[in-house]
Amino acid sequence: MNIHEYQAKAILKSFGAPVSAGFPAFTPEEAAKAATDLPGPLWVVKSQIHAGGRGKGKFKESSAGEKGGVRLAKSIDEVREFASQMLGSTLVTHQTGPEGKKVNRIYVEDGSDIEKEFYLSLLVDRATAQVAFVVSTEGGMDIEAVAEHTPEKIVTFSVDPATGFLPHHGRHIASAFGLKGDLAKQAAKVGATLYKAFVAKDMSLLEVNPLIVTKDGRLVCLDAKMGFEDNALFRHPDEVELRDLTEEDAKEIEASKYELSYIALDGTIGCMVNGAGLAMATMDIIKLYGEEPANFLDVGGGASKEKVTAAFKIITSDPNVKGILVNIFGGIMRCDIIAEGVLAAVKEVGLQVPLVVRLEGTNVEKGKEILRDSGLNVIPADNLDDAAQKIVSAVRGAK
Ligand code: GDP
Ligand code: MG
Repeated sequence: MNIHEYQAKAILKSFGAPVSAGFPAFTPEEAAKAATDLPGPLWVVKSQIHAGGRGKGKFKESSAGEKGGVRLAKSIDEVREFASQMLGSTLVTHQTGPEGKKVNRIYVEDGSDIEKEFYLSLLVDRATAQVAFVVSTEGGMDIEAVAEHTPEKIVTFSVDPATGFLPHHGRHIASAFGLKGDLAKQAAKVGATLYKAFVAKDMSLLEVNPLIVTKDGRLVCLDAKMGFEDNALFRHPDEVELRDLTEEDAKEIEASKYELSYIALDGTIGCMVNGAGLAMATMDIIKLYGEEPANFLDVGGGASKEKVTAAFKIITSDPNVKGILVNIFGGIMRCDIIAEGVLAAVKEVGLQVPLVVRLEGTNVEKGKEILRDSGLNVIPADNLDDAAQKIVSAVRGAK
C-alpha cells in the first residue's frame, strides 16, 4: 500500500527526520491559508498523486499551465493560483502512464534553497533478506537513468536486522555523498532515523529523492515516497487510515474486499486461476501464443462460490477483456464450486465474450457437468496448452 508524500513526511517527522514544514490542502483557499501559516518568502506547491516524476510531469488541461506538478511560488497569491490550476487537473508523468492521475489534493511546503540534491532509498532486499540502502550523489532526477548510464554513481549496501543500523553504515552513507564534518554527521543520523522508521512501520519502500543540502548547511528530505508491506498492515491500523482509494484501480479495490489476489494489466484475456504459480504460468502461455493477459488473478485455495462470483464479475467489468480463460487445478479448491461461481456471475452480468474453461482435479466431473447442463456457450479445454490456444484463437476470431 502506498501513501502520499505529505503523509510520508508526517511519519518521517514523527521519527525526528528533517523535513520542511507544510500543510495539505484540498481547495485553493486552504492552500492560501496554509501559505500564510508558513514563513515564506518561497513556497512549494506540490501535486499529491501516487506517482513520481511530478516536477517534470505535464497537465492534460491547458488551463493548468505548462509548468508541471511541483511549482515554486513567490507570493501567497501565486500559491492560490497554482493550487487552483493543479486541483482537479490530470497530471501525466513517466510513472502514471498516458492516462495520468487526477490531482485531488496538494501539499504547500516551506521552500528551501538548494545547494545539492542526493538520492537515498531503503527497500527490502529479498535476496539477502535484509533492508538495503541505495545511495547516490545524483539526486533529483530519474534514478533509473542514473542506473543505466552511470551505475558507478550508485552505492548499495544492506543492514543485517540482527545488528540493526550501525555507525559504520552512517559513515558509508556520508562518504557516498562525499560529505565531511557536520554534514557527514547529519547524513549518518538521517540514515539511522530512516532505518528505524522503515522497520517500525513495516515499510516495503522508502525513497527520498531528493535528499538535499540547503544553502545554510542542513540535510532535508525534500521528497518522500513510502510504501507499506500489505501483509503487515493488520498490525498498523494507523497506516490503513492513510489509504487513498481514489489512487487505486477500482477493480483492485473490489478484489481486495474479497481477499482476491488481483492485479489489472493491459491485455485482452481475462484470467481466473487458482494458485499464484499456475496464474503466472497461465499468463506466460497466453503470451507465448501471442496475446496479452488482462489481469493476474489468484482466487486462492478453498474459495467460496461468492468469491468466485466476485472474481468473475471483476474480470468482466474490464472493457478491454475480449475473452476469458478459467484455468483451475482443483486441489483444496473444488471444481464444482468454480463452475457454480462462474454460472452465478454469468446470470448476473451476462457473458459477452468467449469463455474457455479448463478444469482438473477434485470434483472435476461434477464441475464439467454443471457447465454442460447450464446451456452456457463454454469452450472446454483438456490441458493448459489446449486452453491457451483455444482462448487466443477465440479472441482473434472475435477481433
Ligand atoms: P517529483 O518530481 O515527483 O520527484 O517531486 P519532488 O518532490 O522530488 O520535486 C521535484 C523537484 O522540485 C525537486 O527535485 C526539486 O528540484 C524541486 N523542489 C522541490 N521542493 C523544492 C524547494 O523547496 N525549493 C526548491 N528550490 N526546489 C524544490
Ligand atoms: Mg522526487
